Amino acid sequence: MKAEIIAVGSELLLGQITNSNARYLSEKMTEVGVDVYFHTAVGDNRERLLSVLDVAVSRSDLIILTGGLGPTKDDLTRETVADFIGKSVVMHPESLAHLESYFQKSGRPMTENNKKQAAIIEGAEVFPNRNGLACGMAVNFKKTFILLPGPPKELEPMVEKEVLPYLSVLTGSENVISSRVLRFFGIGESRLAEEIDDLIENQNNPTIAPLASDGEVTLRLTAKGDPEQNILLLDSLEEKIMSRAGTFFYGYDNSSLTGVTAEALSKRLQTVACAESLTGGRFGSMLTSVPGSSSFYKGGVICYDAKVKQTVLKVSEETFSKHGTVSARCAEELAVNVRSLMNSTVGISFTGVAGPDDLEGKEPGSVFIGIADESGTAVKELSLAGSRRTIRERAVKFGCWYLLK
Ligand code: ATP
Ligand code: MG
Repeated sequence: MKAEIIAVGSELLLGQITNSNARYLSEKMTEVGVDVYFHTAVGDNRERLLSVLDVAVSRSDLIILTGGLGPTKDDLTRETVADFIGKSVVMHPESLAHLESYFQKSGRPMTENNKKQAAIIEGAEVFPNRNGLACGMAVNFKKTFILLPGPPKELEPMVEKEVLPYLSVLTGSENVISSRVLRFFGIGESRLAEEIDDLIENQNNPTIAPLASDGEVTLRLTAKGDPEQNILLLDSLEEKIMSRAGTFFYGYDNSSLTGVTAEALSKRLQTVACAESLTGGRFGSMLTSVPGSSSFYKGGVICYDAKVKQTVLKVSEETFSKHGTVSARCAEELAVNVRSLMNSTVGISFTGVAGPDDLEGKEPGSVFIGIADESGTAVKELSLAGSRRTIRERAVKFGCWYLLK
């Protein structure tokens, strides 16, 4: 089934809001096996919406419209679609009752134009709005039209609870799309692509879509067909990918490096303490954002100033004079000493140059991460590219990665 998403709203064209509904809807449609071929955005204007609908029906089977279902004059989606397919707009008694009870509860008077939000195109299947006033609807006239409210907090629950079940009946379940995201760290997109070059080259079902962002690379594997067959296809492709790049894999789907690291620490019954210079507390902040972090996170010292490194974490005078604070030696001492200070199984330290200026003759991006545990100490030296922010964020991710592996 070919689908098109039409976002209605002049704010979209003026650059005042981002068309996040189209992104969200595309993602959901893909999940249920509907191919989205076009995104269109159009202002709150009847003539232009009619011309967009003209084009849409010529190329799509399913037309999803968002926005313009509200009470004001510029909200004209419902009326325009009704006219386009030659149907009238009628009152939907249950939605009207919903509106009336809302206004009664809020103690505000209901104006005549509010009633518009309970109007539907005749014959439409109605999607109640549990988080707002205007109901959504689906109506068939040669093609299927689905009308949804603009505000994402109304639209998204309506899609989950009403639209997806409606579509799964409409499309049947044989052609389901199943996808799985594999997440990698410590390998660049081009190198990963090279490792699985032949798999990408010969992809058909499942397909492979690589994406790089924030220093991570993901591969989205998508299979289409019978749901059980899909799982087998995805398993087999995943196995091939893992045999080549498995050492860089850290998790599936929406998992995060911090979350996976936290999980691993809890599972291993390890505790961690950190000495943060370069990262200024970000590492601790990221780890403690995971629920249950008290079971593995002991605490940290934000030892930004050299004196704090010296007094609180007992970095030796010799290290300062011979090696400096941006050095493997300093990272090592910080990790060892914070571990013993906090009596944790692992100590980790971050020291480096975030930029934009050089420090101690070292360039921005020069980073040392120390890791101390009962078996000894290791220091990883990195030279990271990017802005001050990127360098600090990457350093935290590398810290997690070293703890994980
Ligand atoms: P309302 O009853 O709030 O008027 P509506 O269905 O008439 O809802 P619009 O008036 O078109 O929808 O948009 C209302 C608000 O919803 C916008 O100001 C914007 O915040 C959000 N919105 C609308 N369209 C989109 C979109 N395509 N992507 C993300 N947000 C949107
Ligand atoms: Mg509106």
